[in-house]
This record gives sequence, C-alpha cells and structure tokens, in this order.
Amino acid sequence: MWRAVRLAVLIFILATVAQTAWLARARVADWKETLRVVLYPIDAGGSSATAQHLATLSAETFLPIETFLRDEAARYALPLKRPVELRLGPRVASLPPLPPRDVGPAGAILWSLQLRFWAWRNDRYDGPRPHVRLFVLYHDPAHSVRLPHSIGLQKGMLGVVNAFATPAQEGPNNVVIAHELLHTFGATDKYDLATNRPVFPDGYAEPARNPPHPQDQAELMAGRIPRSPVQAEMPASLGEAVIGTKTAREINWLR
Ligand SMILES: [Zn+2]
Repeated sequence: MWRAVRLAVLIFILATVAQTAWLARARVADWKETLRVVLYPIDAGGSSATAQHLATLSAETFLPIETFLRDEAARYALPLKRPVELRLGPRVASLPPLPPRDVGPAGAILWSLQLRFWAWRNDRYDGPRPHVRLFVLYHDPAHSVRLPHSIGLQKGMLGVVNAFATPAQEGPNNVVIAHELLHTFGATDKYDLATNRPVFPDGYAEPARNPPHPQDQAELMAGRIPRSPVQAEMPASLGEAVIGTKTAREINWLR
C-alpha cells in the first residue's frame, strides 16, 4: 500500500517537473521577448580573497555576456534586438547539492529535483521573476587549480557555474557562464568528452576554413579554440567566441 502511494507521489512530482520544464522551454523558444537571466554569486571557498572578489561584482562584470548574445543574435538576423537581460541577484549563502558521480539517468533526475528544490528555497531575488537562474560558485584560484564541472540544466532553466574569484579570470568566467546559459536554452556540447577538443565541423567557429587549423575563435558550445588537430585553448574572453550554426539552430535562432 505505502509503496503504491510513494510511487504515485513520485510519478506526480516527475510529471509536474516535466510539464513545467516543457512549458518553460516552449515559452523561451520563440524569442519574442527579452529573457531575464539572474546571476546569484556564491562564495564556494570561504577565503578572504574570494569574499573580496565577490564584493567587486556588479551587473557590469557580466555585461559582455549580454553584448555577446546581442551581437550574435544580430548576426543571425534575430528580430529580437536584446535576447537576454542579465541582472545580478543577491548572494546565496548555501551551497547547491553536488551532482552525482557516474550514476545512471535515475540519479541524474533525482539530483536535478534536489537542485530545483534547493534553488526554490534559496532564491531571495525580489525583482521580476527570472526566466533563467544561474548560480555562480566562486573559487579561490590559490586553493583550487581545477574547477568542478559547470552544469546548465537543458530543461530546467537553471545552471550551476564554477568560476575563479579573480579579476584576471572574468573573461574566461563569462565564457563559461554564456556556455551554461545556452545549455538552458537547449544547446548541446560540441566537444569530445574524452579529449575536451572541439568536434569538427559543429564545434568549429569557421568550419569552412582551409586548412581548418589553426582557428582563432571558439564555438561557444565547444568551449575551446582548435589551434591544431591535437591542441585546443580556452578563449580569453567572449571576444574570441562565436555561436555556430548548429548551436543557433538548437536555440531556435535559425530555422
Ligand atoms: Zn556544456
């Protein structure tokens, strides 16, 4: 009896989540109105350097993301002049639930439910309701050399981004934030998960270039600039990134 009730409750929750996600994407996909994206900074490490860096953040820090999307949308002749509007939300004191390591689809669904629940409980933003919420965890570069993987829930309009708490990293941080933001709009990764190298041709900024290497820009969803068939580099800023045609199709900028 209780098993059946528990199962029914679980199915109800999953159906609700699926429907909300579908509605969110259906609303977002038509690009008829500017989408409100709110960034919530989180101190991931608790060092004084991170705290100091968080105090310097303003809406201006993230303006290059808005400008990048506006310019790229214009390149694809999107009628909407300002696709997204970025706002800086309040700082969040609690840390989001960690994504599971190597569990199947059930684990991933459970984690995405936990994340949504956590986001719902910790969202103190009092402006107009955001379409997309991005939680940005700042790490002290003196303590963490490599960052955990960032995640943009493809159907959740929600992302968790890992960033370095130093002014020198603001350019690369904005690349990662824009990448995860595009995941929430339905864009897929365009790099090889085993090697981190961009996948040809969709992960190349200029796939028609002959010879194909070296390239001098990154396709945003590939995340790196292919300098040679075996070597790829992180762009220093969004100035070295573009949105490729496959990504543009996935986010509904091209039909
Ligand atoms: Zn990705």
